[in-house]
Amino acid sequence: MKFERRDIVLILGIFLVVLGITQYVPFHYSALIGILLYFGIKLYVEKRHQSITNSIGDGLCIDCGSRIIANKCSKCDYSQE
Ligand SMILES: [Zn+2]
Repeated sequence: MKFERRDIVLILGIFLVVLGITQYVPFHYSALIGILLYFGIKLYVEKRHQSITNSIGDGLCIDCGSRIIANKCSKCDYSQE
């Protein structure tokens, strides 16, 4: 597992969720939920990333899995316009 810059966003988001849950359950439960969430999302992203890069190489967008045509993702680049 590699640490990426977007992990900070992920950790911040989970931290907010944990803070929210802490109002209803003891902190050690919400902290555990936060840790499980973090590794769950990390594993999911990693697997998805791997399966995309393994099966198609550079042919697919890593973010959404759509086809890359002429160095542009048909989904991401289109929606940015
Ligand atoms: Zn894309």
